[in-house]
Amino acid sequence: LQKKEEKKFRDLIVQLFKLRLKLIKYNHLIAPTVEIIASIGIAASIYHAARVEISLEDLTPIIMALYLSYEPIKKLGSIYARIRQCTAALDRIEYILDHPIVIEDPKQPEPFENIKGKVEFQNVEFSYDNDSPALNKIDVTVNAGQIVALVGPSGAGKTTFANLLMRFHDPSSGKVRIDGKDLRSITQADLRSQIAYVPQNPILFNDSVRNNILLGKTDSSHLTTEEAGRKAYAHEFIEDLPDGYNTQIGERGSRLSGGQIQRIAIARALIRNAPILILDEATSALDSESEQTIQQALRNLVEGKTVFIIAHRFSTISLADRILVFENGRTVGDGTHKELIKECDLYRRLHDGQK
Ligand code: ADP
Repeated sequence: LQKKEEKKFRDLIVQLFKLRLKLIKYNHLIAPTVEIIASIGIAASIYHAARVEISLEDLTPIIMALYLSYEPIKKLGSIYARIRQCTAALDRIEYILDHPIVIEDPKQPEPFENIKGKVEFQNVEFSYDNDSPALNKIDVTVNAGQIVALVGPSGAGKTTFANLLMRFHDPSSGKVRIDGKDLRSITQADLRSQIAYVPQNPILFNDSVRNNILLGKTDSSHLTTEEAGRKAYAHEFIEDLPDGYNTQIGERGSRLSGGQIQRIAIARALIRNAPILILDEATSALDSESEQTIQQALRNLVEGKTVFIIAHRFSTISLADRILVFENGRTVGDGTHKELIKECDLYRRLHDGQK
């Protein structure tokens, strides 16, 4: 790939270089052009004055005036060049500013604080770009404090389900409610302040471990950074880092292993202490020791919260008291592991497949 990418880069640089040259050429052309035109003008006036015999006293102010107007005209030329440059920049800003806002906050939002965490999907349908629906007639009620695993083959709609709960999209029909309140009747900021989200590939910033964990901190946090680190089974390895919690972790956590990044993300979610937790389990393989530690950390994290886990491993599913099985945007199974093994063909196949 190296040669191909180098060529692509070189072609772009050459193109940029040519455009720059053109810009410099036109910028520098302005002054001589104006000068030539002005000189011709002055020469022509002197010539004309000599022909019609205008006296020197009359001619001098005219020449002076012409000479004085010469600088402003030169400046006008360069202003035009600046305006063209700014128009190009403005086009790019407008592209962002004029982008339609799809999700809007209500004008008179309902209060949304100290929620318990009951979640309802009522006859929810949703499709991206009007293709076949990504979610089809989803009817689910999850009580506060329940731990729900979302399982199913890839593309079944698990992520879309979680995205609708965080209101990254609105359903095309049906309603999503938390504690009985339609998500469209509350502000996005209020909604998201009540949710902790651990994505599949957590994003860490090039900052200290401590600041990365503290990113999750809200008013309802009752843990210290170290307590969160302990509960996330991350304390030991963090203490072993050169500066402990103050160690800089590099771009996107490049100095840490995949399992360590996940445990820092769990500590961040722990300190957040939100009543609703959404967890997108990483698919990447971990060694069995890391996997066990993460399972223990998750056990601490899910305690007392309404939890949705997009689960890929059956060891994680064992954390859940209820499992929703997705297939082609529908829920085809809803129950405990024991019930689903008996009743749901797809669940049994997924289970046997992983074994
Ligand atoms: P899962 O999480 O179960 O793997 P998803 O919720 O990601 O499934 O996807 C459900 C369906 O929606 C799939 O058919 C997928 O191709 C489609 N889909 C997901 N995200 C997008 C998107 N941003 N734009 C268009 N289609 C999408």
